[in-house]
Amino acid sequence: MQVALARSAGFCLGVSLALKHLDKELAAFAKSSFGGDRLLTFGPIIHNPLVMRSYEEQGVICEDDPARIRQGDRVVIRAHGIPCEVEQKLREAGAVIIDATCPKVKKAQLAIAGIKNRYATLLLFGEREHPEVRGLLSYSRNASLVFGSLAELEALALEPGPYVLAAQTTQDREAFYAAQKYLEERFAASERSRVHGPLRILDTICNATRDRQQGVIDLCGTVRALVVVGGFNSGNTRRLAEVARAAGAYALHVEQAADFSEDQKAQLRQYGTVGLTAGASTPQAHIEAMQIFLQDV
Ligand code: SF4
Repeated sequence: MQVALARSAGFCLGVSLALKHLDKELAAFAKSSFGGDRLLTFGPIIHNPLVMRSYEEQGVICEDDPARIRQGDRVVIRAHGIPCEVEQKLREAGAVIIDATCPKVKKAQLAIAGIKNRYATLLLFGEREHPEVRGLLSYSRNASLVFGSLAELEALALEPGPYVLAAQTTQDREAFYAAQKYLEERFAASERSRVHGPLRILDTICNATRDRQQGVIDLCGTVRALVVVGGFNSGNTRRLAEVARAAGAYALHVEQAADFSEDQKAQLRQYGTVGLTAGASTPQAHIEAMQIFLQDV
């Protein structure tokens, strides 16, 4: 089969940097320069079970309960970041913190921490239970509300401003603009809004997710079948398959070559050419291995 690669696929900056931090720690750990202390990631450093297993085999422990952190543990904070109070607990437990929070997530955290108007309510567009959202909220000194869609925003009982609108870094920019437009129109005529300023916008969205989705849409203009490689537990990877299906393609999401059934391989063969992309948590080596596999299907 011919394989056409999406123009933007695989690791984003934040994941790439976080793994570099972990690899550097691991190299020192392998030389036992920590004197018996443990090397941990706080939560999975990456939403990719194959990569996580490889780190576990090298002695890296994945932990998400601050109560189980011991004095001297070296703890790598993943790209999504963690809530301030959790970081405080890790410090109190005596851990050495290696902060691999993505610079773009850190910028969003600091922008939220820096909201000057104490009367403003933070409206955060994101997934309520996502670790990044929990982290962002912890930086807010203002009242905060989270919404996951325009419908959820419309359902909120909002007084006239002031508000600060921000988003989880991986949210869709168009949906964010729709939320902004809705709020501007809703409070345009309010006297209180004129006094306090109705809405301040924090630009916290990262383009990495959008670039990968646009790469899929572009590819679906030339291929009718597409394979997405990456962790089943990776939200942005799953969304790439959904984007491909919405664009009319036959799309399969797999973690590795062994995941294809014989029926699926036969189906792919019928298309002659297959598109290939990967989520932000898929290593380049997995993309290349998949490319070689698909060429022989
Ligand atoms: S998607 Fe963007 S903000 Fe999130 S970790 Fe990757 S580079 Fe950072």
